[in-house]
Amino acid sequence: MSNLKIQITPSENKKEKLSADQLVFGRTFTDHMFIADYTEGIGWHDHRIVPYQPITLDPSATILHYGQTVFEGMKAYLSKDGIIRLFRPEENMKRMNHSCDRLSMPKINEEDALEALKQLIEIDKEWIPKEPGTSLYIRPFMIATEPHLGVSASLTYSFIIIMSPVGSYYKEGIHPVKILVESEYVRAVAGGTGTAKTAGNYASSLKAQEVADREGYSQVLWLDGIERKYIEEVGSMNVFFKISGEVVTPALNGSILDGITRKSIIQLLKHWGVPVNERKVSMEEIREAYLNGKLDEAFGTGTAAVISPIGELRWKGELFYVNNGETGEVSKKLYDALTGIQKGNIEDPFGWVV
Ligand code: PMP
Repeated sequence: MSNLKIQITPSENKKEKLSADQLVFGRTFTDHMFIADYTEGIGWHDHRIVPYQPITLDPSATILHYGQTVFEGMKAYLSKDGIIRLFRPEENMKRMNHSCDRLSMPKINEEDALEALKQLIEIDKEWIPKEPGTSLYIRPFMIATEPHLGVSASLTYSFIIIMSPVGSYYKEGIHPVKILVESEYVRAVAGGTGTAKTAGNYASSLKAQEVADREGYSQVLWLDGIERKYIEEVGSMNVFFKISGEVVTPALNGSILDGITRKSIIQLLKHWGVPVNERKVSMEEIREAYLNGKLDEAFGTGTAAVISPIGELRWKGELFYVNNGETGEVSKKLYDALTGIQKGNIEDPFGWVV
């Protein structure tokens, strides 16, 4: 149990809430935020919940020059019985500390961070949308705040949690998306920062996304950084394929982010007795499977969309259509099961929900 003491300053100007259909992802924020500060030699201090507001940084702060920062992405759901549910939040806090370690940043106390989050949600609970498919997106993050231009780990940090109500990802039902296989730019390499959720990974992914946008594709499929041969991730999601009845996903190889949706899906498939394998998956294998009529399904997985079916892949000018551009059976079943557990509409056999 956490014994965390949090100073609370309630907001005096409550913001107007938008209806679920007006919400655009990540543009609206709740009335409050959580902050704690870290000072080398002292540790974490001044845990507080304050009105949502801009933060002040010295122009020389480490975060602004060398990108020493990490973040997480998670959701709270309001179920029909009025209970607020978090999906495997301990996993997010654990991954945050993994990211902190990679970026030479101080660890958070995972129990305290979860306690802080629960108190923040309690204060802003009226911001959780109720409509089907909606949720409260939660963004914990840490920034290096020391005013110092030397390239070295900052001696001071802030850990902040902000929250944003989000509308349904699939307003018009699940639609498979078109994916461009990226053969030039790479997202990450083993030994780099691919397993951490850190800003630079996302900044450096924008260039490839621009090309995909121009060509009418919704995301890119990232390949390995050495041979551009093996599949890594899709956009900012993990990726799965169903080939000849077996579900496969690239094994965690030191450059792939260890997605919480990914690990939940592997557990669910095993629970159902569906064959699932974590291993290397090459583009050539996907091409062969497609040409032999064995590429049954492909889908991305992540907190935002949960499951995002892939209907088309373009690789070196060749087009592979997956399942006639329709959502596959396993994709649909996984989507229903995961969202059902998250919303509390079906039993949670794994104790994932807090
Ligand atoms: N890969 C990347 C690069 C991501 O940013 C995310 C989103 N956190 C994921 C995969 C999916 O992870 P999760 O299922 O934990 O949301």
